[in-house]
Amino acid sequence: MKKSENTLKLQFDSLSQNESLARSLAAAFVMQLNPTVAELADIKCAVSEAVTNCTVHAYRDAVGPVYMIMNAYADRKVKIEIRDAGCGIPDVETAMQPLYTTDAENERSGMGFTVMDSFMDSLTVRSRPGKGTKVIMMKKLSVLPR
Ligand code: ATP
Ligand code: MG
Repeated sequence: MKKSENTLKLQFDSLSQNESLARSLAAAFVMQLNPTVAELADIKCAVSEAVTNCTVHAYRDAVGPVYMIMNAYADRKVKIEIRDAGCGIPDVETAMQPLYTTDAENERSGMGFTVMDSFMDSLTVRSRPGKGTKVIMMKKLSVLPR
């Protein structure tokens, strides 16, 4: 992949109040590229789902670091990586199935990964039990008429 034109690297605690912070920071970064309203909404939603998973699944009752790296490229592609050092996912393929959740008792619907996948152009999930999880999402923004 070509060299990134702009990068934002963040580390924050896996507290629920930081979910909206991460969403807003992602939106502010992407705003520099003049996204459409729909593209911006998609990215905010995908970031929200990924960060929420770090809060509720990766660290559960504990609090740990969440790392978010955003890259913008000259061709208007945006890459967002959200990583935790939490419990990890034993079977990523199964976890990514629509409606799969390990937390049904807390009214989770098991749709987070499905939302990320459908709102972004690509989604890659890498995880190691006991080590943590990394979610990599890409979206290519449309070119707006000037
Ligand atoms: P929803 O997102 O609809 O509230 P959910 O979080 O259970 O429900 P997904 O976001 O699709 O659904 O995640 C599916 C499952 O993958 C989770 O139930 C959890 O077991 C696991 N998982 C997802 N992200 C992580 C993570 N960062 N660390 C550990 N496990 C995770
Ligand atoms: Mg989720």
